[in-house]
Amino acid sequence: MIHLEFDSQSENEGIARMVTAGYMMKFDPTLEEMADVKTAVSEAVTNCVVHGYEKETGLIQMDIYEEDGNVVIKVIDFGVGIEDVEKAMEPMYTTKPTQERTGMGFSFMEAFMDEVLVESKLGEGTTVTMKKKVAVK
Ligand code: ATP
Ligand code: MG
Repeated sequence: MIHLEFDSQSENEGIARMVTAGYMMKFDPTLEEMADVKTAVSEAVTNCVVHGYEKETGLIQMDIYEEDGNVVIKVIDFGVGIEDVEKAMEPMYTTKPTQERTGMGFSFMEAFMDEVLVESKLGEGTTVTMKKKVAVK
């Protein structure tokens, strides 16, 4: 398993993507699978930076591991949390409509991964758990 901790600065999103890509290599992913997982990670980490901590800098944790033929990726922040997760996950729902956000982040995660679970508590933070089937040798 890989465990990462980094500050919620947008430049760290690229590092999170690269580490994810590095971990994926051992499953010989197709280009499409690789792109899907990297995009999903990018959306999840960006949400921690933009929404979880907004103007503050906070801690983001990531766990990456394999379980039952899936790559499991957890993206965790300890920021503001989400009041209504079901609503937040609706396509085109965004609380920041003015800042070039389209409200499609969760929709992309769901489209590109096989499973997406969002757990959140107001004032405590948010955990996004994503799974994608891979070929385990
Ligand atoms: P886009 O991802 O298209 O730029 P967006 O980030 O607003 O826009 P989603 O990623 O789908 O859209 O997220 C929907 C909403 O869920 C956000 O507008 C925000 O209110 C809330 N949200 C998502 N992730 C977090 C988080 N880590 N902490 C707090 N709120 C979050
Ligand atoms: Mg988003």
